[in-house]
Amino acid sequence: MAQLTLKNIYKRYDNTEKKVFGKQKAQHDYAVKDLSFTCKDNSFIGILGPSGCGKSTTLRMIAGLEKITAGQMFIDDVCINELLPKDRNIGLAFEDYALYPPLTVYDNLAFNLKAKSIPSERIKEAIDRVAPLLKVDEFLMMKPSGLSGGQKQRVNIARAIVRQPGLLLLDEPLSHLDGKMRQTLRQEIKRMHREIKCTTIIVTHDQIEAMSMADTIIIMKDGELQQMGSPLEVYDQPANEFVAGFIGEPPMNLLPSIIVKTQEGFFFTFANSELRVKVPDRYNAVVSDTMALTLGVRPVDVIITDKHSSTPVPVAVYENFGDERRISVRVGEDLLNITTAEEVFYKHGDIIHLAFNSEKTHLFDTKTGLCIKGAIGKKQ
Ligand code: ADP
Ligand code: MG
Repeated sequence: MAQLTLKNIYKRYDNTEKKVFGKQKAQHDYAVKDLSFTCKDNSFIGILGPSGCGKSTTLRMIAGLEKITAGQMFIDDVCINELLPKDRNIGLAFEDYALYPPLTVYDNLAFNLKAKSIPSERIKEAIDRVAPLLKVDEFLMMKPSGLSGGQKQRVNIARAIVRQPGLLLLDEPLSHLDGKMRQTLRQEIKRMHREIKCTTIIVTHDQIEAMSMADTIIIMKDGELQQMGSPLEVYDQPANEFVAGFIGEPPMNLLPSIIVKTQEGFFFTFANSELRVKVPDRYNAVVSDTMALTLGVRPVDVIITDKHSSTPVPVAVYENFGDERRISVRVGEDLLNITTAEEVFYKHGDIIHLAFNSEKTHLFDTKTGLCIKGAIGKKQ
């Protein structure tokens, strides 16, 4: 068990000097910038972000496989900056299984323990304990070549935890697997985490993976932390436009809007569109006439209503997926997407009125992209 703390961590790869305007110029191009966070003992952290945002770099620095350019890392109260990987008490499982092909699954699991001269009875005990957790006990005597991708990945993770590490690091462990297997393994990793009680960090670009397994999510972009919070917090209270657009499927509608004040109160208006939608009353203190902002509202939080809370607007697209319906209306150059589980039927051109779920409407500063203070999408 271990608590991990990162304090102002930077990483610049030595080979990232780029040619700019024909001259060789040192680009202070950091793969990770000023990253600080704490993973509590026994927590399950998901580091989530698009490809290239610095997730693997962060994990490799924690493992000691990559040098830190600046900053400090601690396991409990011990600074680990200078500790060798083998002395960090860390279990690692990467996307690439890297199992030893000539060895049986049992010997693959035993390999690192044997290298530490642990007696064979103790090794057997450790494998007997871990193998059922990841359901690898049925094929301990097989060679890796006879296993499916899902089975290999289970062995890979079992090998990482057989040494009872304080910290388990998983880098995209499910990305080679097909949909059904990913779902099964997600559930098994979660169960395994509950049973072995080990601080676990999973790195993934797949939000479903992070949201379903982790108790805390760290969202990164361009090497920087965007938000850290529970899955529900990052979904319901995104700190900025990036997080708002990244979490949730289908993505949140993010529309540039100008606020207009009328006798009936404030309305969202949109360039090149007749559409006006009432601003939820609880935002009256943060909006003002002619204010420009970005409105964020998830498709599921746009309500089709016969009340005149908006100007009439024609349906541009109607799709029925059986379990849900998707309706889009044109707003200037953009489409505003709506999803509903209600059995509503429209055709192109039908006139509807819209309202926004006031609890779930988000306002962002157009320039900074940050959530406007006092406008977090939840009652305070
Ligand atoms: P992610 O895992 O989020 O996809 P990475 O941590 O692998 O991102 O990469 C972050 C950035 O660092 C990217 O711009 C990538 O090109 C760069 N990078 C990663 N590894 C190296 C390396 N060994 N040398 C130079 N640049 C690297
Ligand atoms: Mg990666």
